[in-house]
Order: sequence, then structure tokens, then C-alpha cells
Amino acid sequence: MSKNKVQFQVGFSALEFIDYFGSEEQCVKYLENLKWPNGFNCEECSHKECYQYKSGSRTIYECKSCRKSHRLTAGTLFHRTKIELRKWFLAIHQISQSKNSVSALELHRHIDVNYKTAWLMKQKIMQMMYEEDNKYRLKGIVEIDDAYLGGKLEGGKRGRGSENKSPFIAAVETNEKRNPIFIKLTPVHDFTYETVKQWAQKNLKRNCCTISDGLRGFSALKEVSNHTVLVTSKAKKEEIENTFKWVNTILSNVKTSISGTFHSLKFDKYGFRYLADLQFRLNRRFDLRKMFFGLISKAMASEQKPIQYLNSSLTG
Ligand SMILES: [Zn+2]
Repeated sequence: MSKNKVQFQVGFSALEFIDYFGSEEQCVKYLENLKWPNGFNCEECSHKECYQYKSGSRTIYECKSCRKSHRLTAGTLFHRTKIELRKWFLAIHQISQSKNSVSALELHRHIDVNYKTAWLMKQKIMQMMYEEDNKYRLKGIVEIDDAYLGGKLEGGKRGRGSENKSPFIAAVETNEKRNPIFIKLTPVHDFTYETVKQWAQKNLKRNCCTISDGLRGFSALKEVSNHTVLVTSKAKKEEIENTFKWVNTILSNVKTSISGTFHSLKFDKYGFRYLADLQFRLNRRFDLRKMFFGLISKAMASEQKPIQYLNSSLTG
């Protein structure tokens, strides 16, 4: 798909969203169909009929045979949430359909919850995005570069006062035609041989092809892949641009997206989730509708994360 087709695709419009998910009942019905696609099914005894009654704002589904009570969102991302489902749906819509990252402050205004709640909802949604892409291993031809988040986001080049900056590895899988297929943005502690080796073992398919510049730690890529080094100090400008075309494009996207949306991020602590949000949206940019519905399905299959976990940092 060409760039224009990505930019001008219809997506899942706000009007359509209101038609589908404007009321709490519509969201509940949609999640009921996801949980029980063939109608209610008791997880205890497989009985197919239930009584329904309200407990506060939530519906309880009580099995007519064994009397076990079921809650629609138990064990999901929405577990025990006090926030209306339509607000969760709208948050997922905002995050998945916007071109740039949506900040917790914007979310707080758009969905009418307090800032702390918006921040937590966003962290949970980003954590889900992180987990989804974390499983993927890059293959084909992979462009790799080192970059930094934070500080002044000076295009992420090393050796220019990296204090207050959080390093990450940017990698783009391309196919034989050198079209970009999948992106990984992974925070790391540093770019030493051992760190890069661990990253490669976790994120690359064995025997794929990797291309990087001559940064010493990148020589660890040969442990897993067929590694080609382009020594940028000796190569022509055009050759550098062609070789690292996609990874440079992505890094420029990261810069625009994050610097335009966030002003004071604790990158070292939460950076991995903001990168995961960007990476997730870039990886699914061809189909915005699918991204929204995929996230709702994933949310129903996701375990609720304790707050302490959401406050923890993660790298590697
Ligand atoms: Zn039952």
C-alpha cells in the first residue's frame, strides 16, 4: 500500500464509532458476543442458560443449573473497572485511530475521566500493545540502528551527551522488495555486545539478514543473523540513505510523534510503553479498523495488571 493509501484510508470514524458503541448497552452486547460467541456457556458446568441481574452498574450472569455467577469482564483488561465500558471503548478508539500518540491529558479531556484514571487506562492499553508485539521475531532483511529517547531528541545519535536520555534499539524488518513489514523499538540499558546479543536472541529469527553501522556492540548481531556492516564514515551519502532508509524514516516518526505530544515523560521508566504504542500503530497502519477491533478482542483476552506492575519500568 502506498503512503497515500495509508494516509487517506477511511479507518473507523468517530461517527461510525458512535453508531456502534455510543451506549453502554452496545458495548456490553459486543463484549458478550466476544465472550460467548454461541450464547451463554457456563465455565463450570457448560450449561447454556443464565439469569441476568444487576449488581450496581454491572450485570451478573448466573448459571441456571449450577448457580455460578459470571461477570462479563472478569479476568480481562476491564476487570473490576469502575469506568463505563463506552469510555474504555472510546479511549481505545482515540489511541488507535489518531495519527500521533494521544497523551493522558488529552484522554482525560476526551473521555471525561480524571487525569490519574486516564493515565492508568492509557498505561494498561499500551501494556497490551507492548505484550502483543513483544512476541514477534523479525525476519527477512532487518535495518538496525541505535537511538535515544528524552533529552532534546536530537535525532538519537550516540556520543552527544546521552545523560537523561534513554537508549533504545530501532529495527525494521523489510521484505525482498525492501518494503517495511514490521518495526521494533526496544529500550535497552546500553549498546554493549552482551546487551545487543540478548536483544538479538529475543527479537530476531535465526539466520535473518541484519544491517547496521559500525557501532561496536552491533557486532553481536552475527551471533543470530547474517550481519552486514556499513561503515558510515567511509560510505557515500546515497548508500547510507538507501541502506537505512526505513529505520531513519521510523526514527523521524518517533521524534515527531513524541515531541509533539509529550512534554515531560519519564522515559527511563515508562519509555518502553510509549515506544510500544508507536510501534504497534505503525505495524498496523494499513488497517485502522482492524487495529481497533483487534485491541478490543485482545483486551477481553488480557489479564488485568496490578497498579504496581504498571508503575514498574522494563527494558531489554
Ligand atoms: Zn453452571
